[in-house]
Amino acid sequence: MANNSRAKTVETICPYCGCGCKLKYHVQRGKITKAEPIKDDPVSQGRPCIKGLTSFEPLTVERLKYPMIRRHKNSPLRKVSWKQAFKFIKEKTKNLKESDIFFTGSGEFTNEDNYVMQKFARVVFKTNNIDCCARLCHVSTGKAMHDAYGLGAMPSVMDDVLDADVILAVGTNPAYNYPVLFNRILEAKKRGAKLITIHAVPNATSKFSDIHLNVPYEALTAFIAGLLNAVSEECRSKVDGFKETKKSISYLTPNYVTKLARIDIKLFNQVVSHIVASKKFVALHGMGLTQHANGTENVAALLDLCIVKNGKTIPMRGKCNVQGASDMGCCPDWLPFGGSRSAAKEAWGIDLPAQEGKKITETLENAPVKAAYIMGMNPAQSLPNLNEVHVQLENMFIIYQHHHPSETAKFADVVLPGAMLPEKDGTTTNAERRVRRIRKAVSSPAGLQDWEIICGLAREFGYKKQFGYKTSKDVFAEITRAVPEYAGLEWNAVSTKDDCFAEKEIRFRKLVPIEKIIQVESPKTTDYPFTLTTTRLQYHFCTGEATRRSKTMMKMQSKPVCKINDVDAKKLGIKTGDLILIKSTAGEIEIEAETDATLPSGMLVAPYHFEGVLINKVIPSHRHLDERTKTPNYKAVKVNVEKVNKRQ
Ligand code: SF4
Repeated sequence: MANNSRAKTVETICPYCGCGCKLKYHVQRGKITKAEPIKDDPVSQGRPCIKGLTSFEPLTVERLKYPMIRRHKNSPLRKVSWKQAFKFIKEKTKNLKESDIFFTGSGEFTNEDNYVMQKFARVVFKTNNIDCCARLCHVSTGKAMHDAYGLGAMPSVMDDVLDADVILAVGTNPAYNYPVLFNRILEAKKRGAKLITIHAVPNATSKFSDIHLNVPYEALTAFIAGLLNAVSEECRSKVDGFKETKKSISYLTPNYVTKLARIDIKLFNQVVSHIVASKKFVALHGMGLTQHANGTENVAALLDLCIVKNGKTIPMRGKCNVQGASDMGCCPDWLPFGGSRSAAKEAWGIDLPAQEGKKITETLENAPVKAAYIMGMNPAQSLPNLNEVHVQLENMFIIYQHHHPSETAKFADVVLPGAMLPEKDGTTTNAERRVRRIRKAVSSPAGLQDWEIICGLAREFGYKKQFGYKTSKDVFAEITRAVPEYAGLEWNAVSTKDDCFAEKEIRFRKLVPIEKIIQVESPKTTDYPFTLTTTRLQYHFCTGEATRRSKTMMKMQSKPVCKINDVDAKKLGIKTGDLILIKSTAGEIEIEAETDATLPSGMLVAPYHFEGVLINKVIPSHRHLDERTKTPNYKAVKVNVEKVNKRQ
C-alpha cells in the first residue's frame, strides 16, 4: 500500500463475480477516485473487466448510513443508535423457538462476515436455519462434486482452460459473466482449441464457438446424458461406477436425444467425435445447467463426461465469495467442524444444533418462519414466486443488514447499515477456492464491518466471550480451526501470496448414475405457449443494488428489456420498444420488448437485475425446484405474452 497523508493506493479484490480479480484503488481524502488493473495478478492476468474497474462508483450513492427500526408494521423506519437497534431485536426475538427464525449469509460479503453470521445463528439461536445465495445458483454443483470427487468445490483452476484442446461450455456465458475466464478461452482458441457451446439460446460466448447447439432446457438433462452415453461407447473407463452409469443412460441414444432436443444428429455426432478425440478436455458450466429442475442430475452428467475423458471441470460461481459463504457454513446442511459436535462444544461451548435447517427457498415462501435476519441478500427480488414471498416477508419480523436499500429493505423492521467490500478487511474465496485478502480502502458510512455488527448484537444477547474478536485477523484464525477445508491457511500468507487455496484435493473419482430425468415444466399449452428464461446482462450484477448505482454501468444498460424472436413478435404485433405483458401461473409483469432474429421461436429472455421490473414474479416455484437441492428453475418457465399498449 502506497500512502501519503492525503492519497494512497490499496490492493484488494473486486466485489462482483466469482473470478475474484485483484484491483488497485486510488484513494484521496477518504474517497476512491479510480480503480486500476494489477498487472501480475494471476486471476485477472492484468485485464479485469469494466464492472471491476468501476466497482467503486456505488460506494457513495444512496447508502444506508445508520441503524433504523420500525416499531409497528405500518409506521416508518426511524433512525436509532446501534444500542437501541440491538435492544429492539432482542426484545422482538428472544422468545422465538429455534425453528422460528432464519438467517442468511452472503456471497458478496467476506468469509469473516459469513463465519460470524452462521456462528451467531448456531450459538445464539441454536438453529441450522441458515442459507445463502448459493441455494439460488450452484448448490447443485457442490452436491454433484461431492458425489463425484468427494470435494465440494472446483478441483481445477481457470488456467486449465489455456491447455485445453476441446472446451465444452454448457449453460454459461463467460463472455459477459466471467470475462477473465473468457479471455483464457479466446487464448486457448488461438492455440487451436475447439469451443463447443450448449445453451437454450445463442449468447455472446456462442458467437465465438466452433459448434453451438441450441438445446431447449426441457431436453438438457437427457441431451448431456446422451452425449455421455455416446462418448462412453468409444471411451471405456475403468473408473468406479462406469457399468452402473452406462446402464442408467443406455436408452439415451443419439437418435432419441437429438429428436428430443430438435438438434441435427450430424452436429451431435461431430460434437461426440471432438470429445472422443480430445486429449485435454475441459467442461465449463453455469446457471443454465444448475437453475433447473434437474440441476444436480445435469451437473452429475457433465462431471461423468469429464471423468470418462479424464478432463477438467470449471463450474463458475456467480458472486465473489459465494464459495466462501458456503464453506463458512452458511448452509443448513454444511456444518462447521466437519459436523463434529465435540469439537464445536470445545471451541464454542455449545452443542451444535442437531436438526437440519431450512433452505431459503422453503423458508421464505412455503414454510414461513416468524423472523428472518437477512444479511447481504435481496430475496424480495431474487427468489422465485415473488408475489407469495412478499406476503410472507410482510408477515415476518425482518432484520435487514446490507450496504444499500433494496426491494427487501421495504419489508424491514430493523435496518442495520453494512459495508461494501472496498470498506472491509478480511478474505474471500473465489470460484477456484483461491483465498484472497480483502483490504479496507475507505470506511463505510456507518463505520462498522458486517461481522462487527453481528458481534455487537451477540454481546447484547449475552455472548460476549464467543464473539470477542478484535480484528478480522482474529476471525480468520478461528476459521482455520473451525472449517477443516481452511486448516493450515495463514493470514500472512493469504495477505502476501496469490496462490493460497482452501482444500482442492480430489478424494476419489466416481461416475454417478443418472437415475432421474424428470419433466422440467408442464408441457406447452395454448395458455402458456412461450418459454421464459432469466439472464444476466453484461453490465449488471445479480439483483443490481450496486451496479444500478454505478453511473457507468447505467450508461451502458439503463433498463431491462425482454427479448422475443422477431417472427413471434410480428405475429403478436409487437415491435422493439413496445410494452408487453408476460403472464405465468405465478403472476404477471410488464416489460419493454426487443425483437431479436437470433432467438429461437417460442423463447423469451429477460434480466432480473432491475427492481422496477421484478421478473421473478412470473417464476413459479412449487414443483419447480431441483429435488435434491431445492434450487429454483429460473430457466424454463411457461408463459404467455401480449402487447399492452402502443409503442413507447
Ligand atoms: S466482475 Fe469478475 S471479471 Fe470483472 S473485474 Fe470483477 S472479478 Fe474480474
